[in-house]
Amino acid sequence: MKPKVGFFDFTCCEGCQLQIADLEEEIIGLAAIVDIVEFREVLTGSAPFYDIALIEGSITRIADEERLRDIRRRSKILVEFGACAHLGGVNKLKNLRDATTVRREVYGDAWNMPHLDTYPTRAVHEVVKVDAAIPGCPINRQEFLTIVKMLAMGLPPKLPDYPVCVECKKRDNVCLFDIGQVCLGPVTRAGCDAICPANKAACEGCRGLVPDPNKNSMKEVLAKNGLSLDEVFRMFTMYAIDPEVLP
Ligand code: SF4
Ligand code: SF4
Ligand code: SF4
Repeated sequence: MKPKVGFFDFTCCEGCQLQIADLEEEIIGLAAIVDIVEFREVLTGSAPFYDIALIEGSITRIADEERLRDIRRRSKILVEFGACAHLGGVNKLKNLRDATTVRREVYGDAWNMPHLDTYPTRAVHEVVKVDAAIPGCPINRQEFLTIVKMLAMGLPPKLPDYPVCVECKKRDNVCLFDIGQVCLGPVTRAGCDAICPANKAACEGCRGLVPDPNKNSMKEVLAKNGLSLDEVFRMFTMYAIDPEVLP
């Protein structure tokens, strides 16, 4: 019996699910080892129980909590995938401001509609127990395939425990700090092959913090380039990384 897998989306752009839908022939390899029983973007149907539930998107309403808890009850393994689910993602930006002000700005005169609540955005693991995470905005398809295959075989998935800078150096990229940009590569978990710096765009931390981030190294890089922590704090808020990581 192949493990039954279900995909579920909450508040997000569904870009991570699209990455999976775009796997083309590689999805055949995945289908050889798992039975995809629920995936709204790709097929109709549902199941009462899942060996692996994959959750995309952040939790932004009370009703989301109820739905997520129900999925958790019906799943052996629950995985948060994509920065929205893993970190709260860009949806968490609203938590930085007064909820009523945000609602007025978004909905204008209709700001007080009964279904709108002041629930703060949460990552999936802030609501239910999570067994594994697949980071990124969007996820890396190969990493996704590897982690799902490992879970299907009963093995614990492993994420890189070193920063994006390591992958960036391997690609011989010019460091963005050397051309006057700020980059979160020194404290962000690798696994994306430093795709942003390789294309001259700063790492904004979409994969979350590397375990035990080297704060001193980050501070030294900032000091060397005449930058203040304030300039970095603004970048940390993009993907809801706690800026307290830097003293
Ligand atoms: S993590 Fe990024 S790509 Fe994935 S659903 Fe959220 S916003 Fe979209
Ligand atoms: S700081 Fe950014 S650009 Fe510089 S090496 Fe690290 S990841 Fe690459
Ligand atoms: S370089 Fe940074 S922002 Fe870009 S994909 Fe990798 S972790 Fe995300």
